[in-house]
Amino acid sequence: MPFNRNVYERAVYKEPAPIRDHENPFEAMVKRFDVAAQILELDPGFYEYLTTPSRIHITAIPVTLDDGRMKVFEGIRVIHNEILGPSKGGIRYAPDVTVDEVKALAAWMTWKCAVIGVPFGGAKGGVICNPREMSPGELERLTRRYTANLLDVFGPDRDIPAPDMNTNDQIMAWILDTYSMHARRTANAVVTGKPLILGGSPGRREATGRGVMTVTLSAMERLGLRPSECTVAVQGFGNVGSIGAQLLAEQGCRIVAVSDVTGGYYNANGLDLQAMMDYAAQNNRLLEGYPNADPISNDELLTLDVDVLVPAAKEDQITQSNAPDIKAKIVAEGANGPTTPAADAILRENGSLVIPDILANAGGVTVSYFEWVQNRQGYYWSLDRVNRRLDRMMRAAFDNVYDAAAQYDVTLRIGAYVLAIDKVASALRIRGIYA
Ligand code: GLU
Repeated sequence: MPFNRNVYERAVYKEPAPIRDHENPFEAMVKRFDVAAQILELDPGFYEYLTTPSRIHITAIPVTLDDGRMKVFEGIRVIHNEILGPSKGGIRYAPDVTVDEVKALAAWMTWKCAVIGVPFGGAKGGVICNPREMSPGELERLTRRYTANLLDVFGPDRDIPAPDMNTNDQIMAWILDTYSMHARRTANAVVTGKPLILGGSPGRREATGRGVMTVTLSAMERLGLRPSECTVAVQGFGNVGSIGAQLLAEQGCRIVAVSDVTGGYYNANGLDLQAMMDYAAQNNRLLEGYPNADPISNDELLTLDVDVLVPAAKEDQITQSNAPDIKAKIVAEGANGPTTPAADAILRENGSLVIPDILANAGGVTVSYFEWVQNRQGYYWSLDRVNRRLDRMMRAAFDNVYDAAAQYDVTLRIGAYVLAIDKVASALRIRGIYA
């Protein structure tokens, strides 16, 4: 069908969206989608298809607590789409997860897989709970019941979960076991990010941080910066932030600040990341009280005079209130959705190069794909092979996004959306609509 701007504009622009500091994450995704859709002159039907999640599962999860009481938790799994392959995406456990957040995260998985070039669709899961207040036994029962409730959704060829915020390889092992008990065979390709001994991949745990490091180096090259001359601030000291920081330090960067939920830690001479990781490991995974750094606030960390800022905590951290004060030349989004659309415009105006989440943190799902391939081959790769392939894919994706952004004179984020949407829309066009 030829493109008809009138029809299209009606489909896209329902009403002007207000600019707020804290976005509904799904709306924030759609706002970027809109810009890319205009560039691609996307057919209105395709627009509607690609902005609508294919399925949303909400399920009640009754759990017997350690004190004998029964509590019902809410579990969510959103399948955004499966056009390029089985759906893929992590599961997060947090007290404030919402369906809209999971919808956005599922859509970002679709675009992430398309940008990096792995043959998966996008999904995401969430359970509304506070894992810090739950015992290992309670977490196991919660995970097993969530899995049992979604048995018909998950599967190595259907939908493949992975870790995300507050979930880890142990939780993946419980999902694998529950699914396998029902399948009457060990189906280790049903999850990724699992322990090595159950078919996990070498390098998967470090993959997201490694990918952040690789694309940051690519961006430095484009800007003519040398790693040894760059200072870095990292927001978040979980799996992505701590490993990303360590790998950038190995490349010669000086990591002057990191933060976690207990606050920011600053040392102008560079932080000793191994000491901080050891300290956190001994201290309930928290940096509180770490001695060799000055305390700073979250906003101070984000607006430090550094060359590189890595937001690796959560959504909505860089907003129109703090974006005008951000000085970093490169912002590498380790987290999903850390920058609001209003802040995007400010950062661009001020000359910061933002490496968007769907590119910067794609290392995790890339090695998830390698893990899934290894499970299905029954043949396991060396760490060196995993890392080489990951680096190659991250660099190639960065170059593709950089070139697309230059071609359309847009941000890297919009460049990445253009590439991703174009790829998924092309696949949809060839598959056609089953009716
Ligand atoms: N949760 C990670 C992400 O947001 C990894 C997903 C996966 O490996 O499937 O990209």
